[in-house]
Amino acid sequence: MNTLNHTHDIKAISWLASANDPGCNFPIQNLPFAIFTEANRADHWRAGVAIGDQVLDLDALFDKRLLTGFAAEAIQNIRNKDQKVASLNSFMSMGQEYWSALRHAIFDLLLHSVGLDIKNVVQSCLIPQSNTLYRMPVNVANYTDFYTSIHHARNVGRLARPDNPLTANFQWMPIAYHGRASSVVISGTPFHRPMGQSMALGGIAPSYGPCLRMDFELELGLFIGNGNALGNPIHLSEAENHMFGVCLLNDWSARDIQFWEMDPLGPFLGKNFCTTISPWIVTMEALAPYRVPFTRPDNEPQPLAYLEDEGNRKHGSIDIQLEVSIESARNRELGQAASTITKTSFKHQYWTFAQMVTQHTVGGCNLQTGDLLGSGTISGPKQEEAGAIIELTKGGKEPITLSNGEKRSFLQDGDAVILSGWCHREGFARIGFGENRGEVLPIVG
Ligand code: MN
Repeated sequence: MNTLNHTHDIKAISWLASANDPGCNFPIQNLPFAIFTEANRADHWRAGVAIGDQVLDLDALFDKRLLTGFAAEAIQNIRNKDQKVASLNSFMSMGQEYWSALRHAIFDLLLHSVGLDIKNVVQSCLIPQSNTLYRMPVNVANYTDFYTSIHHARNVGRLARPDNPLTANFQWMPIAYHGRASSVVISGTPFHRPMGQSMALGGIAPSYGPCLRMDFELELGLFIGNGNALGNPIHLSEAENHMFGVCLLNDWSARDIQFWEMDPLGPFLGKNFCTTISPWIVTMEALAPYRVPFTRPDNEPQPLAYLEDEGNRKHGSIDIQLEVSIESARNRELGQAASTITKTSFKHQYWTFAQMVTQHTVGGCNLQTGDLLGSGTISGPKQEEAGAIIELTKGGKEPITLSNGEKRSFLQDGDAVILSGWCHREGFARIGFGENRGEVLPIVG
């Protein structure tokens, strides 16, 4: 578990003016990691850290030999030795003390009080974000998607089982399905509406055709840094040590295909055509100020002993503000702004990331560097805080209206869904996740 330290100090400012703008996603207290290149140089992928409106090029910084100790070892592992495989995996496998050492070293270099000679050297390693492209920051080893919002589970469960929306297991453990790592893509990558088999309500035989109930799921993605050996579960008290950081994740869902196929083995083709992640990974250390207690109402089942401990109770949850907007094809044509359709916080989730990690490994399953755990759809307690369109429209029956008057029961071709997220707490900086964007294209052919 990360404790608060001087890198979280709200009074810390950078010599880079844009990092000190109020409302900036990437102040000196954030320092998230990505894999980037310049837009006009699309063959030079390497690791970078966001600061203000710039990217600190870690390959260039490595060449300056400014770092010492653990930070020097960390940047040696993060630099791009082979442009074809640029990823953060090697650095992520090193563990908390290296992640932290590199964060602290970069913080010191960007701090307002650093000497002019150092500042000039570091400044030469900055690339404007307006001229950058991003790709997958991590070679995703495996992808597992959880189901941990009780509000989402109730809203969706009610559509199928009005009298008994929650399944018997939901309040006892974080439940999940094993997803597909190969179709996890970086923000900005469009995908084609999938074809598939579905059963109309009250139908007697399924039909094959384009998905008619295309949906998004607002989620966070947790990246595993260092894994565990097969047969060696990660105890709850150790779970935080294995977590590298968090991104925004959209678990695109073809609801008609999913609901026909998922009984009894769970989601398959309704989910595996595309999952979109945001480019920047915000580290667990950056998130330390925004941790909040894990709570469970007294009249609900309390976690079994292996999913319960003091640290998780005290600060197992994270208050991350989240927002979803839709930009339709017509919005783009006419230059209109996207419509915000929901706002919520991750703090409402029924289970914590630590409990998900422990549950995943309790039987002996080995997590690996680069494993991605989806939080499950994040829906808050109010109807307007729902993290999927199927909830916002009550199964498609009550369409939502976009700001230009267009109505949506489910997503249409040309719709782009944009997730954004940020943390703020009194006495601490506001840090942002940036944006996760994906667009639904028509069926192939
Ligand atoms: Mn999901």
